[in-house]
Amino acid sequence: MTASSSPDGPTRILVTGGAGFIGSHYVRTLLGPAGPGDVTVTVLDKLTYAGNPANLDEVRGHPGFAFVQGDICDGALVDELLAAHDQVVHFAAESHVDRSILGAAEFVRTNVVGTQTLLEAALRHERHTGRRRPRTFVHISTDEVYGSIDSGSWPETDPLRPNSPYAASKASADLIALAHHRTHGLDVRVTRCSNNYGHHHFPEKVIPLFVTNLLDGGKVPLYGDGGNVRDWLHIDDHVQGIELVRTKGRAGEVYNIGGGTELSNKELTALLLEACGADWHTSVEYVPDRKGHDRRYSVDCSKARAELGYEPRKDFAIGLAETITWYRENRSWWEPLKERAALR
Ligand code: NAD
Repeated sequence: MTASSSPDGPTRILVTGGAGFIGSHYVRTLLGPAGPGDVTVTVLDKLTYAGNPANLDEVRGHPGFAFVQGDICDGALVDELLAAHDQVVHFAAESHVDRSILGAAEFVRTNVVGTQTLLEAALRHERHTGRRRPRTFVHISTDEVYGSIDSGSWPETDPLRPNSPYAASKASADLIALAHHRTHGLDVRVTRCSNNYGHHHFPEKVIPLFVTNLLDGGKVPLYGDGGNVRDWLHIDDHVQGIELVRTKGRAGEVYNIGGGTELSNKELTALLLEACGADWHTSVEYVPDRKGHDRRYSVDCSKARAELGYEPRKDFAIGLAETITWYRENRSWWEPLKERAALR
């Protein structure tokens, strides 16, 4: 990415959920040496259990960075922020499927009502911004909205058949977002990515949970028969994809973003055990399957490839080894999180 200048000054980007796993990586990248150079970033984050101010330490002193603690459902706050920004990259969400099975209310509130609140404010201020650049709203969604697929891959045109309350709330948000394009002409772009992995990932998700359990000499809980298949996407590649969509994507379009490494949970577990020097017999505990557990996800990324030049670059073996090393070397980041959330 190269620096450029605009007659309007830097593009002012509002990043919701920027204290979470992917959002914080996006912000650190935007404001880092490889970033575009002509942007300022305001993070709006409620700092739920998943939001961590430490994820933003690296950019806290950057002159183009600001942090606002707040809720995307707070209409007055969102309205004020949208008046002062040119673009929105919307990550904020309740993101853990297991929690959505225990109770879906917060998922509907944040993921659906929060998205709606942001879209309405974006629409209101699109008309009044007085600046020449178009307002762009990048909505970060998930491959889980498509449901489960036994073979082949979903193109963006596949119908949405979400199965978990989490996926249903994200699918609802996608539809509301796209409706704001179709009805009002708002420049909405939707990304649907596969399972992300990398550093700063909250230790309730499978890779950081298993790695940190193994680093502590504990067991890893494997759902069902371990045959559920996921595509793994390194956060660097995901951030690359989001930036391509923000800068080169088209209004009203959906873009799948995948990593190109499909593994069953059993295969993933075997790799993690090997990397951490543990063996299957003593370290794996089979646990009852997640309710409604989707068997396989697989996105077809040919549209992002052809239109935007998207290509996942991170070799999975290298990315996984780097991730494990990061958890090995950053106990002070994850130990308090695990303790607070009583994770094992
Ligand atoms: P995360 O749970 O790590 O972070 C979510 C962030 O949103 C947190 O910082 C949290 O404090 C904030 N937040 C939650 N509710 C809020 C509210 N009401 N107002 C303001 N902020 C709020 O999530 P993540 O893994 O970084 O995921 C980011 C986005 O990517 C989500 O929209 C998720 O659905 C999507 N996604 C994630 C993955 C993945 O593998 N992690 C895969 C596909 C899609």
